[in-house]
Amino acid sequence: MQIDFKDKIAVITGASRGIGAAIAEAFYQNGAKVALLDINVKECQERALAIDASGSNVIALQADVTDEIQVKKAVDQILERFERIDILVNNAGVLHHVPIEEKTVADFEKIIKVNLTGVFIMSRAIVPIMKKIGRGKIVNISSLGARTGRPGVAVDYAASKAGTLGITRSLAKELGPSGIYVNAIAPGPILTELTKQVPKEVFATWNVGRVINKDGLPEDVANAVLFLSSQLSDWITGITLDVNGGLFIP
Ligand code: NAP
Repeated sequence: MQIDFKDKIAVITGASRGIGAAIAEAFYQNGAKVALLDINVKECQERALAIDASGSNVIALQADVTDEIQVKKAVDQILERFERIDILVNNAGVLHHVPIEEKTVADFEKIIKVNLTGVFIMSRAIVPIMKKIGRGKIVNISSLGARTGRPGVAVDYAASKAGTLGITRSLAKELGPSGIYVNAIAPGPILTELTKQVPKEVFATWNVGRVINKDGLPEDVANAVLFLSSQLSDWITGITLDVNGGLFIP
């Protein structure tokens, strides 16, 4: 069996750059029609055109995943254009890399809101559409930080990403009988705008213990997303797939 997303509609949040952009590109290259969502619509439109200059198989939409009204509007626009949604990748995420003493409650709550509540808001908006079709795949982007903790990664980030694993397991049980699969990916360190705020010497320590001699790339995460969104994973739900070059082997 080959991976083929012909006639599938994939929605990716935080798709303007980094891992989300690589996921959007990978779906497009494998035949899907792709909706790129991001808080920053201009960058998102540029990314969509870079993927498909004709614009016929991509749509770029503004959606802050914490804003229910924007999310509903974006979902309505996707349905108007592509008529269905088969795949949702909850990828949008933020990191605030400071020690606990320097973090305010507002900082903490902002990270939880984007990384965790955003997954809830997006999933709640799209699950009814998948239920109508009787099938769907949801992939949540968590983090190695949820599995192992990490000094300086910040309590809020690790908590939000661990919470994402809880949502994943719970939703997999709730939605499995409706034909909807829900899985998570926990990527190790990937050099993107998100991790550029981490001092280089600290980022280097994050790779200590890696057994595969290769840096992690956004494409490595995208490949895992394709697998968990395809028919190749039709007996897999509720799992966390570690994508980290062997940094964490439980
Ligand atoms: P990135 O380069 O910072 O890209 C994240 C994208 O999400 C940006 O375009 C950002 O837009 C957008 N975004 C932020 N807040 C949003 C919101 N409220 N609604 C919609 N979009 C929003 O990050 P990345 O490294 O590609 O990370 C992607 C995902 O992978 C995140 O969930 C991250 O936690 C996870 N992850 C990353 C790593 C890593 O090492 N990079 C490792 C494990 C997990 P703005 O620029 O406007 O904020």
